[in-house]
Amino acid sequence: MAHQQDAATVEPVATCSDAELDIEFAYTNWQQACHDLYTLVQSCKRPKGHADEHASGYGSQRTRWHR
Ligand SMILES: [Zn+2]
Repeated sequence: MAHQQDAATVEPVATCSDAELDIEFAYTNWQQACHDLYTLVQSCKRPKGHADEHASGYGSQRTRWHR
């Protein structure tokens, strides 16, 4: 039987690692970014037209949300 994780701790399948998002953010300037709003002060910093979830912030501030 495969190892089973507590359902409450299982994240949706992440298509981008935190390291990959760090690189994406570093190479995406304000004009190129998606800007989907998560809160009034936090918007997506991935490039426009990206696939999968929106993301913002670095390190412990990293936030991901679904479109
Ligand atoms: Zn986005």
